[in-house]
Order: sequence, then C-alpha cells, then structure tokens
Amino acid sequence: MRMYDIIRNKRDGKKLSKEEIDFFIEGATSGFIPDYQISALLMAIFINGMDREETLNLTMAIARSGETVDLSGIDGIKADKHSTGGVGDKTSLIVAPIVASFGVKVAKMSGRGLGHTGGTIDKLESIEGYRTSVSENEFIEIANKTGCSIIGQSANLAPADKKLYALRDVTATVDCLPLIVSSIMGKKLAVGADVIVLDVKTGSGAFLKTLDETVKLAEAMVAVGKDAGKRITGLITDMDIPLGYAVGNSLEVIEAIETLKGNGPADLVEVCVALSAEMLYLADLGTQSDCYGMANQALQNGSAYNKFIEMVETHGGTIECVKDTSLFRRARFEKEVLSTEDGYIGSMDTEKLGVASLLLGAGRLKKEDPINHAAGIILKKKTGDYVKREEAIAMLYADDETLFESAERELNAAIKYSAEKPVKRDLILGRISSR
Ligand code: URA
Repeated sequence: MRMYDIIRNKRDGKKLSKEEIDFFIEGATSGFIPDYQISALLMAIFINGMDREETLNLTMAIARSGETVDLSGIDGIKADKHSTGGVGDKTSLIVAPIVASFGVKVAKMSGRGLGHTGGTIDKLESIEGYRTSVSENEFIEIANKTGCSIIGQSANLAPADKKLYALRDVTATVDCLPLIVSSIMGKKLAVGADVIVLDVKTGSGAFLKTLDETVKLAEAMVAVGKDAGKRITGLITDMDIPLGYAVGNSLEVIEAIETLKGNGPADLVEVCVALSAEMLYLADLGTQSDCYGMANQALQNGSAYNKFIEMVETHGGTIECVKDTSLFRRARFEKEVLSTEDGYIGSMDTEKLGVASLLLGAGRLKKEDPINHAAGIILKKKTGDYVKREEAIAMLYADDETLFESAERELNAAIKYSAEKPVKRDLILGRISSR
C-alpha cells in the first residue's frame, strides 16, 4: 500500500477502506509516514469529509494506536464524561463524585487546558499533594475503593492523536468534524468505560460556535460511540456565558467545592445535575426523572461532597483546604474591574474571558509554560445583570500586577452593554442519545 494512493483517493472524494485508514494511522504513529503526507491527507479529509464508517474506522485506529486502559478490574458499571471544552467548566469535579455516590464507578482520564479553555487536571493540581499521575493498577484500585478517580492521560494513550493534533494545529485542519470526532472519541474509547456522557458545548466560549455545527458534532460522536457498543449521550450545553462565576484553577476548585456543599450557582448546578442524571440513567439506576432527583439530592445531603473528600484523600491531596477553602493559596494582587456604562450586560464573548484569565497566568501561552493556580477571574456580573457605571463587574487575580492591563482590556472587549434585558438562553440545548 502507498500513502500516495490514499491521499489521491481522498483528494478525489473516494471512501477510504479500513485497511487504508489503519495503514495511515500505523504509519503516522511509527513515524514511517512523513509529516507532509499526513498533512496532505488531513487537508483532503478536511475538504472531502468522511462518512460514518470511515469516521468509526479512524476513531478505532486512533484508540488502538497506543496503550489502552482495561477497566475490567473495576467492579460494576463504569461511567465516563467528556466536555468539548469551555470557560469556567468545572463540572467533572462535581459530576464524578455525584455519580460515584450512587455506586457507579467513574475512572476518568482528563486533559489540561487547551487554547482559551481550562482543563480538569490543571484544576485538580491546585489542591496541594493531589497526584494526577498514578499507575494503571493504582487507578483501578482507587476507583474500586473510592468509586471515583480522576487522573491525567498517560503519555502513551492514543499517540496517533497527539501526532495528528499537532499537525492539524498548524495546517488549519482543527475545525473538521470527522477529525474532531475521531480525536475525542479515539481517546475516550482507549479507556473502556461502559457509559459515556459528552458535554458538547456551543457558543462564543466553545470551539464550535454555532448550534447547527454543534448538533452535527454531537450526532457524529454519539454515532461512533454507539457503533463501538457504548451507551452514550451527548448533551448540548450553552457556552455563550461562562459556567458559574469563577474562571481559573483554584478559584474554580473553590466554586466546585461550594457547589458540592450545596451552595453552587444555579447555572453550574443545572448543568452538573443534567450530566450526572444522564450518567445514572445510562447506568440503569432509574428513570430520567428519578436520576435528576437523585443527582440533586447528592448535592443537598452531602454525599457527593463526602465522595469528593475521599477522592482527594486517596490521591494524596490535602483535605484541609477542601474543608476550609480559605486555606487555598491566594494570588498576591487583585484588581476590581468597573463597568464602563449604565445598562444590562447584553452579551459576553466567553472566549475573550478565557483569554483574559489565561493572560493573568491561569493558562498557557506556550505548551511548556507553567500555570499559576491562584490566578484568574471572579465575575461579579454576568449576561442579563443590570449594572451602573463604575459598579464592579469582575475581580482579577494575579501574582504579577503588570498582567492586569492586558487582561482588563480583553475582559472589557468581551462585554457588550445593552439598554434592553437580553433574552435568557436555555442551558441545556439538546440531547442526542443511543437510548
Ligand atoms: N479536543 C480534542 O481532544 N480534539 C479535538 O480535535 C478538539 C477538541
């Protein structure tokens, strides 16, 4: 088989066979196929697309390209969740303990921040001592003992995706449906959960901004999961406004802990309950309405909070700061941002808010940059709130005062004021399910 023929076939709009796709992924992983041929095929896929069978074959080849994680040593049903990425999205920290408190095991490998979006592993590392890198045996042991474990992806999980993602990033082929589907689902299927719930974000803070393209993405991911024999749902959720009020690692962990204690902001609670209920429903724990009630109850009666404490403790994290969040290290400097107008906050460009937090040190400008866990933003006002000129709309946190100027500029550019109260958008915008 020649890579030249595979590129030509896709260039001419032909369907690639399983053998061609396997040859491509094996060669991309081993280094046998040079970057220029990989890039040429990525562009041909970008232009001519892939059908359902090709997308499934590409996903499975990516899943098999490195180590796979065998969860069969964990008793009972294993459930996983994945977010396509957002701003202020701390849902995994809340959903995993809610679901685990009902005996459904959550053994989850999460990612770090990507672009303007935050990552669960960076957030968890703001808890002193929490080990996000453990052996597969320990991962299984913790999941069996505690019911939930969240760790980072092992270096050899889906290596083909690492190679393809790096080339997509520099060849304008990131925003391509079959490539996004196979990248996300390849990593999910390499870790063998029975139940998968996808939080497919849409709006200004998501990678896909329009509802139409988000629905297509959710449909395609659910189709691949179903074809791979999984019970799977994609919930389409709003990311046109940050979730909750905190953006930045330890600030988000504190907000997640408050939510687990029953004091969370309404939007964050709604999305977490919907995701947890869906995981419990797919795990056969009751009707959809029963599962909503159960998820809500776990936040109110302390069982999810206790499960979170157990998870932190078994990963070596200090539980004192979970019990008393004032013990988290605070940034050295803070700065209030004031409204520049009287009026309603009409909209917030949520990607810009993510960038503002990144500029304060909460994210990475370059791959190897360190993270400042204490940096970030606490919003005081969000879309739909009325503000008076010079009223506080946000508080910025950083260890270096010189970072405030560019972050404040980005935050102000994100906010559009309006004389009319904007129409409130639903938070859960769609559900696509194998069930
Ligand atoms: N996240 C991923 O892991 N891959 C993509 O292609 C896009 C978002």
